[in-house]
Amino acid sequence: MSEASSSSSREKQGSIPPGMVMGPDGKPCKICTAFRHWKPPANASKSTAQSQKSSATVMAAIAAETASSKTSPSATDTRPDYCPPDVEQLGRATWTFLHTTAAYYPEKPTPTQRVNMLTLIRALPVLYPCTHCASHLGETMKEHPPDVSGRVGLSRWFCERHNEVNERLGKEKFDCSIQKLDERWKDGPSDGSCD
Ligand SMILES: Cc1cc2nc3c(=O)[nH]c(=O)nc-3n(C[C@H](O)[C@H](O)[C@H](O)COP(=O)(O)OP(=O)(O)OC[C@H]3O[C@@H](n4cnc5c(N)ncnc54)[C@H](O)[C@@H]3O)c2cc1C
Repeated sequence: MSEASSSSSREKQGSIPPGMVMGPDGKPCKICTAFRHWKPPANASKSTAQSQKSSATVMAAIAAETASSKTSPSATDTRPDYCPPDVEQLGRATWTFLHTTAAYYPEKPTPTQRVNMLTLIRALPVLYPCTHCASHLGETMKEHPPDVSGRVGLSRWFCERHNEVNERLGKEKFDCSIQKLDERWKDGPSDGSCD
């Protein structure tokens, strides 16, 4: 589903909170929505007691994370690690997997390696659980077929697809030169801070 059609579904529903994304079944889509926009449907089947208990558990976990000196700044913005991912966590994990896999893809892949990479990429628009994300990717792949010729081309191809999402979300574009991509996803910066 495109973002346009999900927002028109939202308009039809009228009462959908801002940022909440509807799924193809016309119901709020949890994996398509950021946690900060997620409001469980009013008719959720959990009892009040259950939800109070889980809220308390979540608050306790967040408080524990906040108190920990090892907590990263972003950890307090999200739910505890044991919660299912939202659209942002799933996106970060997926991009990490895809960019890293591209960074380690051979310079000269065998025909079998190329076929396997194509199969992996072509599965995304079909299987990626955020349906409007999957749909956008499928559309752009028609215009920009995957480049599986080698790690430089593949790394750039993923970078460009990621930049299209960044642009849609109003985020900065990434420099898709292989130097910058390798620094981020393979070698780390030259100052050795990631060694
Ligand atoms: C296929 C796909 C489609 C998606 N579509 C949508 C969508 O339609 N709507 C939506 O709300 N979310 C979508 N997402 C999720 C979205 O892209 C982000 O992952 C999410 O918003 C979290 O963003 P972030 O700012 O934490 O960093 P991310 O965008 O997840 O990036 C993670 C890290 O990658 C690096 N990076 C950033 N851009 C690039 C690049 N171009 N090339 C290489 N490295 C880069 C940066 O260091 C960044 O910190 C999609 C994710 C995927 C995998």
